[in-house]
Amino acid sequence: MLAAPDPSAPAIELRDVTKSYPGSPPVVALDGVSVRIDRGEMVAVVGQSGSGKSTMLHVMGTLDQPTSGSVLIEGIDSSVLSDDHLAAVRGRRVGFVFQRFFLLAGIPIIDNVANGLLYHGAARPQRRAAAELVLERVGLGDRMWHRPNELSGGETQRVAVARALVHEPAFVLADEPTGNLDSATSASIMELFKSLHSEGRTIVVVTHNEEIAAALPRQLQILDGRLERDVRPNSR
Ligand code: ADP
Ligand code: MG
Repeated sequence: MLAAPDPSAPAIELRDVTKSYPGSPPVVALDGVSVRIDRGEMVAVVGQSGSGKSTMLHVMGTLDQPTSGSVLIEGIDSSVLSDDHLAAVRGRRVGFVFQRFFLLAGIPIIDNVANGLLYHGAARPQRRAAAELVLERVGLGDRMWHRPNELSGGETQRVAVARALVHEPAFVLADEPTGNLDSATSASIMELFKSLHSEGRTIVVVTHNEEIAAALPRQLQILDGRLERDVRPNSR
């Protein structure tokens, strides 16, 4: 059973999080990051390549453990949870859009997305029905039965988004979801995230695109593994 989340707690909180990768010298990817993201916020994470953005997103999503400091998800300290419990949190609450997303070549798009529900134990017809709905939402209703090699880069990225959304996650963590996309396709993906935000989901988007970041209600600027600035341009 999942521990009961605290409804008044932030969605995600990092407390003095450090992450080092072994080596000589070790790489300090995160260097004392503290940040709270409230439920229903939509946040951009920006910073130059190698600054620690992906590491921060992975730590926020409990895919990776910090070297020191704590990660709280809905008020629960992730370090007290078992691996099974963390997997359950990820499987039910978090939708990841990864920087590199590989579709299974041998099966149609609809099943690549429906597989995102395997964890939930839903039967195949229900998984496919849910996949169909979310593929329509990302504008791929007419591509569902295509194979991955028949899609453009932008379409593949939209499949990655659909896959992240099929289990209706409370948090969506996206790592450069518009990387390598033309501006029209990028805009349509960001519109999709904005509509998820308006439904009350918590969204964190890593992006290189300054225009995209500037359009979001909050920006976390990362420099050398540290939270350099926390900007809320339109806050009153
Ligand atoms: P960004 O997403 O901002 O480009 P990353 O979080 O991917 O940055 O990486 C931050 C730093 O940590 C970089 O110096 C990178 O080389 C290093 N790094 C990331 N992942 C690993 C890893 N698995 N092993 C060793 N070093 C890593
Ligand atoms: Mg990255």
